Amino acid sequence: MTLYKNIVILTGAGISAESGLDTFRDKGGIWEKYDLMDLATPEAFARNPELVHEFYNIRRAEVKKVDPNAAHYALARLEEKHQGNVAVITQNVDSLHERAGSRNLMHMHGELNKARCMTCGHVNIWLDDLLRTSICPSCNKSGNLRPHIVWFGEIPFHIEEINDRLSACDLFISIGTSGSVYPAAGFVQAAQNFGAETVELNLEPSDGTNLFSIAHYGKATEIVPEYVATLIRQD
Ligand code: NAD
Repeated sequence: MTLYKNIVILTGAGISAESGLDTFRDKGGIWEKYDLMDLATPEAFARNPELVHEFYNIRRAEVKKVDPNAAHYALARLEEKHQGNVAVITQNVDSLHERAGSRNLMHMHGELNKARCMTCGHVNIWLDDLLRTSICPSCNKSGNLRPHIVWFGEIPFHIEEINDRLSACDLFISIGTSGSVYPAAGFVQAAQNFGAETVELNLEPSDGTNLFSIAHYGKATEIVPEYVATLIRQD
């Protein structure tokens, strides 16, 4: 008999740090090098689409060069071995969870390797550079593709399904996120209100650390596989 029927896992930039991708708030992170208001808002894209495309083209190229790490693989192993349900909600726009094998996965802030057409609404797989002149493979119009990324001021994806998952979960695990951007930062409180056990796995205490009943601090590649192994042993 499994201890947990429904496990929900929230991940952030910290899980991909040891794969070689920058986090946002840590020293040397992405947002120290770029000004957020020039890049990650709909207004910034309307003002200077070339600059925004260039930023995401660089990030898309970076993701191609890196591989999933032991923490991503551990979560895929948990989904495969656990007797109950395991869902991963990621704030990350990289593709490392799916490349490691996670299947029950929601990209709440979008995906770097997709482009959305603002004319026909179609979401296209996009692995190379996206340009202002790129043509939508669905409607053949040019000039209207944007990164399939949730920018500041926009509503995250999958919110309804996420709320359903949180209301049914009995174990909520937060990994590698600073807990400073809503709505994701509020998921731990929601899960706790629904009676779930709450676990934080992070390099250091996050902003919402007091809301977790269990916490392990250290590198994701060490603490995530260790914690997952204890869950699988309990099954
Ligand atoms: P973050 O950079 O805010 O936090 C990363 C967390 O990972 C930190 O708590 C850090 O201690 C931890 N960490 C770093 N290395 C680690 C490792 N090796 N192992 C385990 N943990 C490690 O990233 P986030 O929490 O994913 O950010 C949330 C969202 O915020 C992002 O998806 C992004 O869309 C958005 N964002 C917001 C702003 C803003 O200014 N409002 C700026 C940038 C991004």
